[in-house]
Amino acid sequence: MNGIVAIGLAGMAAMAGLGWWRGWRGLRFALALAAGWCLGLVPALTGGDTASGLRLWAAGAVLLALVGGYTALIARLRRRAAANAETRPGVVGHRPAAASSSAPPPMSEVELDRYARHIVLRELGGPGQQRLRRARVLVVGAGALGAPVCLYLAAAGVGRITIADDDTVSLSNLQRQVLFRDADLGRPKIEAAAETMAALNPHIAVNRLGRRITEADVELVAEHDLVLDGTDSYASRAGTNRACVAARVPLVAGSIAQWEGQVTVWDPARDAPCLACLFPEAPAPGLAPSCAEAGVVGALPGVVGSVMALEAIKLIAGAGAPLRGRMLVFDGLWGETRTIALRRDPACPVCGEAVRPRSSPPPSRSPRPA
Ligand SMILES: [Zn+2]
Repeated sequence: MNGIVAIGLAGMAAMAGLGWWRGWRGLRFALALAAGWCLGLVPALTGGDTASGLRLWAAGAVLLALVGGYTALIARLRRRAAANAETRPGVVGHRPAAASSSAPPPMSEVELDRYARHIVLRELGGPGQQRLRRARVLVVGAGALGAPVCLYLAAAGVGRITIADDDTVSLSNLQRQVLFRDADLGRPKIEAAAETMAALNPHIAVNRLGRRITEADVELVAEHDLVLDGTDSYASRAGTNRACVAARVPLVAGSIAQWEGQVTVWDPARDAPCLACLFPEAPAPGLAPSCAEAGVVGALPGVVGSVMALEAIKLIAGAGAPLRGRMLVFDGLWGETRTIALRRDPACPVCGEAVRPRSSPPPSRSPRPA
């Protein structure tokens, strides 16, 4: 009996040492199995007979080796998938600067575990997660829509996120801006947002930009693969749209009022309309009241901002059909959604043929800050 237990313990120690050295995680389960086998089942089955105990232990060891080998094989396949060269088109692949930037190091075991639910998705997989990791995204406005956008992009592992906002957290924000806590009152939104995002995912970089985005920010926009705009004034949205059109960067736009919200992807560089194709001029005063004037239900930006983050993930990874040339309208009061087809306006004052021929090259790029 003692001999069998000693052999079992020695075998377990050897496997534990191997597992620790190789960083196997499935081995914990296998070791628990082996412990039960050696300490309980083998002596009980053999009645203390050393020879038959050894045979049973050998059978257990073979089982254990199979489990360990399978675990190691799966880990190796996951690593290979993660490091695999990209084959599907996404906005990251479309951006010349991103395509020429050096490939990031392979994902660590911790990152593979963190993004495991992405990696098993056929439409994302290892290459899709690597694209998210390499992506540089500009989030305009850290308000109601910016909150779920920032949280989900950070959680999804989007490698570099720039947040542009010049506002501070006020009490009336907390009813819907779930990025902030009561203790953040009075703090700059970009500070509180960056802190929350870093706490959520330490594997990403968050750049803080304490100002608004205007049409003059073409160079800044061109340093990003994608822009998400959740601001609530036409002037701000029109400025971001102009900068994105000039830089040929897709713009995921969301808006909310009261119980209803809309999401679309403005992208004239890829034959979708821009904001000005549909809305060339600011609405008449009173026709599009802001959330402060008209009110907005707290959970609505959670829905609309999450759809924006989802569109960003799809665009970056090249998955599915993004809302290019389509607008998703969500009516929260009646629980209805509908999709409206949108067309480019050839005479658009921002992206029309007269203003910007489609064959024009993207603007030159300044080196990205480290
Ligand atoms: Zn246009």
